[in-house]
This record gives sequence, C-alpha cells and structure tokens, in this order.
Amino acid sequence: MPELPEVETVKNTLKNLITGKEIRDIDIFYSKMIRNATESEFKITFMGKTIKDIDRYGKYLIFLFDDIALISHLRMEGKYFIKDIDLPREKHEHVIFYFTDGTTLRYNDTRKFGTYDICEIKDIYTNSPISKLGYEPFEKEVTFNYLQNKLQKKSIAIKSSLLDQTILTGLGNIYVDEVLFLSKIHPETQSNKLTKRNIQDIIKYSREVLNKAIKLGGTTIRSYTSSLGVTGRFQNELLIHMRKDEACYTCGTTIDKIKVNGRGTYYCKECQKK
Ligand SMILES: [Zn+2]
Repeated sequence: MPELPEVETVKNTLKNLITGKEIRDIDIFYSKMIRNATESEFKITFMGKTIKDIDRYGKYLIFLFDDIALISHLRMEGKYFIKDIDLPREKHEHVIFYFTDGTTLRYNDTRKFGTYDICEIKDIYTNSPISKLGYEPFEKEVTFNYLQNKLQKKSIAIKSSLLDQTILTGLGNIYVDEVLFLSKIHPETQSNKLTKRNIQDIIKYSREVLNKAIKLGGTTIRSYTSSLGVTGRFQNELLIHMRKDEACYTCGTTIDKIKVNGRGTYYCKECQKK
C-alpha cells in the first residue's frame, strides 16, 4: 500500500511527465471508482482541459486544472502508467486519459479500491475527502497540545490511533512501526496512557521518518512497486518493519511480529516495553 512518501514520489514523477498536457478523450472501464459524478459528467468535466499542476495532501494525489481538481486515492494497489496510445489496454487499466500529444495516462488497480473525487479548486481543503483528514505531521498545527488532545479521547492502541488519518494524515503501516520503535513505545499501548515525552517523540520521529523516506523516494517492498520507473530506497533503512526474527539494531533482541487490530506489526519487546 502506498503511503505518504510513495505518493509524494508518484506526484513528483507525474508532475514532470504530464503537467501541461491536454486531455483529448477519456475511457472509463470501472465507473464505480468515481465517487461524486457519473461517467459522462466525469468525461465532460475533464475533456479539453489541460493539467496545470499536480499536488498531494496526505495520501491523496490532486490533479489541478483551471478551476477544477481531480482527487485520486491509490488505496491498496493503484498505480499510474504513461504509455503510447497504440499500446493495448491491460486487464486492470480502469481509466485511460488520452492526451493530444499521442500519449496516455492509465490508472491501473488490481484490487479496484482506488477512488476519484471531483472538486472545485477553491473547495479542496474544505470539502470531502480532504477536509476529513488530520494534519500532516510536518505542519505547524501539529503540536504537543494538538496531539495530546486527540489521543486523550482514545483508549485504543496507539498503533491504531496513528493509522487513523483523521488524527494525523500520512502515516501508514510501515512508518507507524518505525515511529513507534524510535519512540520506544509498545504498539498496543493505550493512546490515552502515553506520557508527555511519548507524544513529543511521536511528533519528532514522524517528521524525521517521513522526511527521510521522501528524500529516498519512499519504500519499495513487495506490497507496492512504483509504476513510473522510480524505485524507492527507504526499504534499506527500515529499523523494525519487515524484520521479524532478525536482531534489533539497538539491543540485539529478536524482533517480534504481532497483529494489532488486524494489522501486521513489528516491534522489539525489549526496547518497546508496555
Ligand atoms: Zn531492541
């Protein structure tokens, strides 16, 4: 599943490759992924329009046109490909944008969980889906008071709270494991039982881990490979995630894998005591 750093990488790559291209036609093979328009409304909205820029918030990609935006969430397996017009459609290509220069942008999704929302540019941050998200960890609004206030209402495991995108947006399964390891917090700790130091560490390490992952182009592991020829390198930097039965870099203890609310979770029982 792509997380914030991987989506940032996709955004930067697409920005370089398709900004300025004009959409001549669109084929839709799975219209259910469009959440707030019919197939024909979708086509009418974007045909003849030029992509002015591409942005990102949390794990959403935002294609910007003159006054309208297309908000795309890749969910589990969504990927974009840029191909020549002559190449045949592959089975999992659900939407194809044809540009006037003879190239195409194809949305490929084996699981079909990805979504599209159309939104006026002025409403992007005040309308669903973006308005429902919490802040990204880098934002100045993310302070000790903000996070403590959110977490003190939660008796669920901190791992689950950090995956809840309405508290902080952008941390997924991989990066939450890394942040909790660096913060020395057991993933099952009740969110409202964290110390002041714990909360400060979560903020500090969320920023550190995400910034480093963005710099390295994200994490490319078997669950998500980028389609645009960009391979992330953060998988070489993982301290805890995917390291079951290996030795903890800090203390040498064998790393455990457990399930926390159904999500595979890696932790060191020595460094991250309950
Ligand atoms: Zn350890």
